[in-house]
Amino acid sequence: MYENLLASVPTDLWIGGKWRKASDNARFEVIDPATENMITTVASASVEDAKAAVDAAQNAFEDWAGRKPRERGEILRKAYEVVMAHNERLAKLITLENGKALSDSRGEVAYAAEFFRWYAQEAVRNIGEVSRAPSSGARIFVHHKPAGIAVLVTPWNFPAAMATRKIGPALAAGCPVVLKPASETPLTMLALMPLLAEAGVPAGVVNVIPSRRSGAVVGAMLHDPRVRVVSFTGSTEVGRKLLREAADNVVKPAMELGGNAPFIVFDDADIDAAIEGAMIAKMRNMGEACTAANRFYVHEKVHAAFSVKLTERMATLKMGNGLDDGVALGPLVNSEGRDKVVSLVADAVKKGAKVLTGGRVPEGKGYFYPATVLDNVSDDADLLREEIFGPVAAIQTFKSEDEVIRRANDTEYGLIAYLYTKDLGRGMRVSEKLDFGMIGLNRGLVSDPAAPFGGTKQSGLGREGAHEGLMEFLETQYVSVSW
Ligand code: NAD
Repeated sequence: MYENLLASVPTDLWIGGKWRKASDNARFEVIDPATENMITTVASASVEDAKAAVDAAQNAFEDWAGRKPRERGEILRKAYEVVMAHNERLAKLITLENGKALSDSRGEVAYAAEFFRWYAQEAVRNIGEVSRAPSSGARIFVHHKPAGIAVLVTPWNFPAAMATRKIGPALAAGCPVVLKPASETPLTMLALMPLLAEAGVPAGVVNVIPSRRSGAVVGAMLHDPRVRVVSFTGSTEVGRKLLREAADNVVKPAMELGGNAPFIVFDDADIDAAIEGAMIAKMRNMGEACTAANRFYVHEKVHAAFSVKLTERMATLKMGNGLDDGVALGPLVNSEGRDKVVSLVADAVKKGAKVLTGGRVPEGKGYFYPATVLDNVSDDADLLREEIFGPVAAIQTFKSEDEVIRRANDTEYGLIAYLYTKDLGRGMRVSEKLDFGMIGLNRGLVSDPAAPFGGTKQSGLGREGAHEGLMEFLETQYVSVSW
């Protein structure tokens, strides 16, 4: 069934520019979430393989770091073009292993490629400074050097973009990388490797080692003194673990963790615009996004209009195999993900929420869950505190600005908040008071390679994208000079 698509997709480890089996020949299955069928098997890296990948990165380091910034930039620019030329094939592969609708996957490939284009331009903007020490008169010469080998660990919800958002700046900075993709979705990154080679990325600069033994493999690399950066995107729980491990060798961490985004609709909002924004903020990737709107706070004066319109839109979304035409809602990634959504909805309903649409698992194969709107959600419902990671919109009402700011901030997460109001003064005032790294003000989508993406509190450390993303892979060196 998948033969054509899979014909050219490699399934082994990519180390030092070559495909190789796991040292102990271990493999694991990759499952199609729409059918529950096995797609293929992939090599499962061992600790020994991880060491070989770090060896390969080390061998490539001096040459790559020594290349002229323009040369690294040109290779990244070529990578952008090659990925875009393979957009459709990569998009289908993402849908196959992740489940998301093909339109979502196409958008993801374009977004993923943009990180190569953006960092092609940032590669030549590693800018230092020279100043004069106020008292001694010495010159303060500051420049930025590649930080060293970077270990990248990525989640399954954006199999391409969460990886290129790290590979792009690392390569621009001059750092070689070892990437461990999520076990649910290893194929997209493996398929990317020949494309990067075609673009001119030298052997050993990017290594990819899928593994079922994530803890042991990543742990071993974080304890290898040659590794100087760990850039992780995933759950806060695993992020905390990696931070503890990174502490042993004082490895520089960049952490993009979980979210619990509030979506606030004031009584002066353009309701149609808020509905458009809500559909994107909630339903992009079937709600399986760290940026997904998790809690809807709607002013009591516009609550009726908003909930009716949102329900109408959610109820018309076509659910099915993401590869089929017209499908907007594919399956969730696996049975655990769906079970979690089922239990969060059951808990909310038990505590008084009203189901306006959806809420029922369809019969048959595939990890499907319908677009669901819950109204009258009570404050003690678990889904207001946990990431839903599914297509469920939970609506509550509010009366005043101070009240909604307090409730929106009442979470351990601080990744993103959305708010809709026609009064830009209020929009900026409320944005400043919201303790989140990113705000969508009259917008349901903020992700952009040119913007610093990241969160406050337990949503993470550091930023990806923009110039700040490049700085995560650089070390500052200061030379005190007399001349
Ligand atoms: P996860 O934390 O379970 O896994 C992420 C990655 O870590 C995977 O590659 C996994 O194999 C690996 N991993 C798991 N246990 C590990 C261990 N003990 N040691 C080393 N590596 C380990 O997350 P997920 O389920 O793949 O992704 C969903 C989560 O990612 C959500 O919480 C979501 O909010 C978050 N996310 C955050 C961002 C962001 O930019 N802030 C973006 C996308 C996803």
